[in-house]
Amino acid sequence: MERTNTSNPDYYHRVVDCQWACPAHTNVPEYIRLIGQERYDDAYILNRESNVFPGILGRVCDRPCEPACRRTRVEGKPVAICRLKRFASDHKGDIADRLPKAPKEKNGKKIALVGAGPASLTVANDLMPLGYQCTIFEAGPRAGGLMRINIPSFRLPEEVLDTAIDAIVSMGVEMRYNTRIDSLKGLVESGEYDAVFVGSGAPKGKELELPGRHDCEQIFIGIEWLANIHFEHVNTVGSRVLIIGVGNTAMDCCRSAKRLGAADVKVVARKTRKYFKASPWELEDAEEEGVEILENLSPVRYVVENGKLTGMEFERFNSQEIDGKLVQEPAGTEIIPCDSVILAIGQDNAFPWIERDIGLEFGKWDMPVVDKTTFMSTRPGVFFGGDAAWGPENIIWAVAHGHEAAISIHQYCQGLSVQDRPPHGQTMSSTKMGLHEWAYSNDYNPVKRQKMKHVDLKERFKMSIEVEEGFTHEQAMAEVERCLNCDVQTHFTDNLCIECDACIDICPTDCLTITENGDEADLRTRLTAPALETHQPIFVSSALKQTKRVMVKDEDLCLHCGLCAERCPTFAWDMRKSVVVLPYAGRPVPASTLPVVEAQAAK
Ligand SMILES: Cc1cc2nc3c(=O)[nH]c(=O)nc-3n(C[C@H](O)[C@H](O)[C@H](O)COP(=O)(O)OP(=O)(O)OC[C@H]3O[C@@H](n4cnc5c(N)ncnc54)[C@H](O)[C@@H]3O)c2cc1C
Ligand code: SF4
Ligand code: SF4
Repeated sequence: MERTNTSNPDYYHRVVDCQWACPAHTNVPEYIRLIGQERYDDAYILNRESNVFPGILGRVCDRPCEPACRRTRVEGKPVAICRLKRFASDHKGDIADRLPKAPKEKNGKKIALVGAGPASLTVANDLMPLGYQCTIFEAGPRAGGLMRINIPSFRLPEEVLDTAIDAIVSMGVEMRYNTRIDSLKGLVESGEYDAVFVGSGAPKGKELELPGRHDCEQIFIGIEWLANIHFEHVNTVGSRVLIIGVGNTAMDCCRSAKRLGAADVKVVARKTRKYFKASPWELEDAEEEGVEILENLSPVRYVVENGKLTGMEFERFNSQEIDGKLVQEPAGTEIIPCDSVILAIGQDNAFPWIERDIGLEFGKWDMPVVDKTTFMSTRPGVFFGGDAAWGPENIIWAVAHGHEAAISIHQYCQGLSVQDRPPHGQTMSSTKMGLHEWAYSNDYNPVKRQKMKHVDLKERFKMSIEVEEGFTHEQAMAEVERCLNCDVQTHFTDNLCIECDACIDICPTDCLTITENGDEADLRTRLTAPALETHQPIFVSSALKQTKRVMVKDEDLCLHCGLCAERCPTFAWDMRKSVVVLPYAGRPVPASTLPVVEAQAAK
């Protein structure tokens, strides 16, 4: 293999598993260290740079970072990244003067944004400081999108939403509430706006058309039902409630039903637990609240007697795993009595308001064709993001889309190519403070993942009571110590190595090997501990001076303990902190942080 190019920001970025897995690439290890130093304001501001809504996401993020976290490879449970984010947000002081501001003098460009969900709000957050005039058209009476009207306040209190949204709107975004856009053609051809961003979400809940569907009034579509609870159009539900589907919407529906007074709430899944879409922590919370989850049942019909729903009939299956695949055999039918059914089987996009003759192509599943990198549709100047772009995802994806779309809108409005993406940068700094001392906490701490305290079950069942209480100071500090500082990288200087094997002897995880070079597949099998996780990179040095062999490191196993760097007599290993520098609209990364090749080209 050729020497690994560690000056390409992607290489070390990939080693920081949590940051790499986060769609918005939040600098997780740095904000965790700042929390450890009780610098909550700094942690919050660093967080907000990329993920825009730390207080919200610290409560309800789908957390793609956590399954990726290196700590899971050491002892099974990831660092509670999301909860630490909330801790910083809850304990910050007054950070108003550190939030982005819009200049008094505008740049003369006007942007229309459809929908006031997290995607549009992120675009406005990035463009307002550049002098753009942003107008958000929102069908509903307030901003926040599904975060406000679908995520129940027992998971996400309104004041947390209001604080985060006000920080953006108060920059001077023009909010046109109760204004549904019925014609994209009208909007783009009004000539009033230089670009349009569509952040209208995926607002249509999926139907389940089975016999009996329209013969009674006790069958509801989950996302509409949750919105109706939010708007206080619904405040009761039957005593026995069946929720169909087992994703996160189902979890919000079953827990809301409990809070509306239902005595018996069952969630019905077609498959077995392994295949549930709901996040494990949401399933846990629902079960703790007494919701029963039934597997292997496929709905057949609604049982309606004299215009009243009395139950639902299901086909039952016996399931077994064969060669990693779920095989289901029919095993009869069963009627489960109920008074209300709530359908939580997914969401669709709906664009009846986009005319098909405005140069905006629609493709598969009648979805607009949107470029995966630039977020521009086939009509120049019209951009999509969030759930409106490629179907339902989650808040952090909507935020990530918003940042990229804002970059494109800024390029477009300046007459530059939207394809021309600003590169990522990287800075590296040694953390060496002495022979055995590092500027980060490198001791492996065996403490277990902290358990979030919940409001007592006896007091919990009100919509307005937030269930999770947040970490205590002690819990947060213990959790901080679980982080392995994956951004502090083992940086190898090839020509200093004398092949003494000291680092190999001391490494507690056997992730270092000096061996003959070869191709990647071959090298992976010849390491001290064979590197079988092919999605994790291996580092390969250039030919070492003495024997022409190479130093190879399996990044998968490293604990970032620094013992190799302490032991090395020639300082060939150093523990260097890598910071990925991300570009935002109007803020390309400083030239000094660009990869060497690009920096040379720029000179
Ligand atoms: C029940 C439920 C629970 C969820 N829980 C979580 C969670 O815990 N964590 C998580 O990360 N994600 C969660 N999600 C997903 C998350 O809410 C969405 O992925 C995210 O809100 C999408 O953001 P968006 O900006 O694309 O659109 P949305 O949030 O859907 O906002 C779109 C906005 O556009 C407005 N609009 C639509 N059409 C028009 C029009 N023609 N004119 C004007 N305005 C219009 C709508 O009124 C809405 O306010 C959940 C979703 C549901 C349904
Ligand atoms: S151990 Fe820390 S830096 Fe490493 S992946 Fe987990 S949270 Fe991120
Ligand atoms: S930091 Fe060095 S000694 Fe520690 S696990 Fe990683 S490679 Fe091994």
